Amino acid sequence: MDLSTLTIAQARKDLDAKKYSALELSQAYLDAIAKKDQGIHAYLEVWADSAQKEAKHADELIKAGKSQALTGIPLAIKDNILIEGRTCSSASKMLEHYKASYDATVITKLKAEGAVFLGRTNMDEFAMGSSTENSAFGPTMNPHDTTRVPGGSSGGSAAAVAAGMALAALGSDTGGSIRQPSSHCGLVGLKPTYGAVSRYGLMPMGSSLDQIGPLARTVDDARILFEEIRGYDAQDSTSNPDGMYKAGKVRKVIGVPRAFLEKGVDPDVLALFNATIERLRKAGYQIEDVAMPNLPYALPVYYVVCPAEVSTNLARYDGVRYGLSVPAATVGESYEKIRAAGFGPETRRRIVLGTFVLSSGYADAYYRTARAVRDVIRADFTNAFKEVDCVAMPTAPGPAFKLGEKTSDPLAMYLEDIFSVTANLAGVPALSVPAGTVAREGKQLPVGFQLMGAHGGEDMLFAIAKDVERTGA
Ligand code: GLN
Repeated sequence: MDLSTLTIAQARKDLDAKKYSALELSQAYLDAIAKKDQGIHAYLEVWADSAQKEAKHADELIKAGKSQALTGIPLAIKDNILIEGRTCSSASKMLEHYKASYDATVITKLKAEGAVFLGRTNMDEFAMGSSTENSAFGPTMNPHDTTRVPGGSSGGSAAAVAAGMALAALGSDTGGSIRQPSSHCGLVGLKPTYGAVSRYGLMPMGSSLDQIGPLARTVDDARILFEEIRGYDAQDSTSNPDGMYKAGKVRKVIGVPRAFLEKGVDPDVLALFNATIERLRKAGYQIEDVAMPNLPYALPVYYVVCPAEVSTNLARYDGVRYGLSVPAATVGESYEKIRAAGFGPETRRRIVLGTFVLSSGYADAYYRTARAVRDVIRADFTNAFKEVDCVAMPTAPGPAFKLGEKTSDPLAMYLEDIFSVTANLAGVPALSVPAGTVAREGKQLPVGFQLMGAHGGEDMLFAIAKDVERTGA
């Protein structure tokens, strides 16, 4: 088996045909991790023993003719998704030794299928960042060029799949954290419709924005994984009823918000975007300019709403209920010491920002204004979908950048998210599919093409992304 090209779909056929066993397949991945991960650092922890046990269990299911889509499929899990009894740290010192007391709903579903969990993957602390450099445990390197970042915050999940160290992975996406690393690592990444996948057991970052989703090598693989993790969950009060996912008919009109995309995009990335649009036109799609005049406000709105929610969600890390605890004379002193020792600089920056925009006197000027503008951005999408079936834009403004290139300039880092945060603010599904590569210093760096659909429009995104894949260079 060639781990650099193997897909879930192929492995399913091979496992069911008994070409190799789930145990052999998992062992091949564990060997690849042992060989390669030192230079990549995709994993924070590898679960070799339990992975082998899960693989043996999968082999029994296959033998008994009870195999399902993901039986025996080795997956990597982002370190902010709870697995009972396992350390789950969100790549933070705050939760370095925290053990999850229950399974996230997505994990319950994957366990029921007999999937194999290879380990937990590196990420930006509490999912804040676009490069995985905010991990408290050191950065992850991009397998396409190890002097560059894999993107973030699900950079470990992306690097694991791209380097052939997992067949597919789960990530979480609050403002682009599945799609942007997928773009930088040459993968397909889906941020599902808000409420499509249960958030129960996902450590919250921005609760009105967060979604768990797949990172995979092909569109089919991303679809397979999404199909298995989605669905209504009574444990998540924002979970969507299953009925909203009806396979819509694809009318094949793609909207491009031209006025928004031509500023600040790397020329090579824009050229690839335009070339992909041309390929789709030749494949029979109709391409229309679409006016979405409020998209330029998405980034500033996101960087008000997201920190506001972060500051609230991270208030739970007080040293009493979870994680790190530091001796101190008074409760106040203990909060100060724990939160100073447990949180990294970006996390603290977001908490300070969020607390500020929510504080009385400023909440009207910042938080409430941002909420109102968020509604206007949502309306841009609703209006666009009256004219077009989906909206296309680049996933990120450039290819993978150098390690350290943006760490000293938070605003430059935030600009990475300019095209991705829009979907989270509107709650619509968005997918990144590889569009080709650009050359940088003798290396070929992957670049993603992003498609956004109306709520519940995942099937259409998969269908169009397959055409991007099929007509690819
Ligand atoms: N890069 C964005 C941020 O730093 C998005 C993060 C995410 O999607 N988790 O907030």
